[in-house]
Amino acid sequence: MKEKMKKFIDCYIPTETCNLRCHYCYITQNKKFNNKLAQFKYDAKFIRKALSKDRLGGACMFNLCAGGETLLAEEVIEIVKELLKEGHYVMIVTNGTLNSRFDKIAQFDSELLKHLFFKFSFHYLELVRIKKLNDFFDNIEKMKKVGASFTVEITPNDELIPYKDEIMKLCEEKLGVLCHLTIGRKNSGEIPVLTNKSFKEYKEIWKSFKSELFDFKAKIFGQKRNEFCYAGDWSLYVNLVSGDVTQCYCGVKIDNIYRDINKPIKTLAIGNNCTLAHCYNGHAFLAFGCIPELDTPTYDTLRNRKLNETEEWLSLDMKDFMKSKLKDTNEEYTLKEKKMINKKNKLYQNIKKIAKKIVRSKR
Ligand code: SF4
Ligand code: SF4
Repeated sequence: MKEKMKKFIDCYIPTETCNLRCHYCYITQNKKFNNKLAQFKYDAKFIRKALSKDRLGGACMFNLCAGGETLLAEEVIEIVKELLKEGHYVMIVTNGTLNSRFDKIAQFDSELLKHLFFKFSFHYLELVRIKKLNDFFDNIEKMKKVGASFTVEITPNDELIPYKDEIMKLCEEKLGVLCHLTIGRKNSGEIPVLTNKSFKEYKEIWKSFKSELFDFKAKIFGQKRNEFCYAGDWSLYVNLVSGDVTQCYCGVKIDNIYRDINKPIKTLAIGNNCTLAHCYNGHAFLAFGCIPELDTPTYDTLRNRKLNETEEWLSLDMKDFMKSKLKDTNEEYTLKEKKMINKKNKLYQNIKKIAKKIVRSKR
């Protein structure tokens, strides 16, 4: 039987520096470049134990993403290897420029590489500036050759519009297909799209890439989610250094993976209490099914590109696993249970507010 995903674990790695300086970067926007590399308190083997299949209830999909470049902290390579050895599937978000890191990963056992996926963020203008365009495509080729899966994704922005045709040509030349597109956002207030154009114009300009990822993100962009969301239970947001587990990008802290690795990780679905203006990473959370009643494409369709009948960006194993919907491996709550969960959330959120007030008053 094909393996299905038990949970989606989105991991934050607190590296807040990068070898690139994209003007649309969320760190640049928040002026957070501080040369801070993640300092891991525990080694990869211990992290694996803290995130064992036993503890999590089965094979999970991990997404590893730093505040800056994910692969800058060397330890990440060993952590990825251990998570793969544990039987999990791992996605790494990277700018694809650190050659030595890809050389190391290429040495992984081929069975492990089948469960590894890269999101290569294609920062065209920066790659040209630092003369790393060839390295970027070479590293993609390197990972493809050893059997890892990948996607290539560009962040459309107004400064890139004059280079659109050039980029499309380059993709066809180097990848054999067009890359996917995400949607750039400003990390403030309503989390608006990062453009001076209207959203309609923005979509019109970039639709020529025919990206399923872009289309889906555009469809859910700006929509406040009011449904019962299972983030905090079927998915978790984990800081891999501190070990803190929060429900999602909003919500409350529910556990720490390092506190007692012999106990199950506590969970609490966020329910109807998502406070974000919209689910900007819904291409993962919603596609995996954190809101089970929503009809969404499966995640593989948002990441894959087919070159021909035999070649595509995802390995067979990865494609199958990415097709998972979390409701197939987790039980939905009854109405009564949902009410209880919502009450608990309100209580925790109030405690969080009071705690914040106390801290402020002491300053
Ligand atoms: S590569 Fe990523 S982390 Fe680095 S500056 Fe660009 S957007 Fe930011
Ligand atoms: S709706 Fe999206 S952003 Fe909100 S809690 Fe659920 S998964 Fe997270």
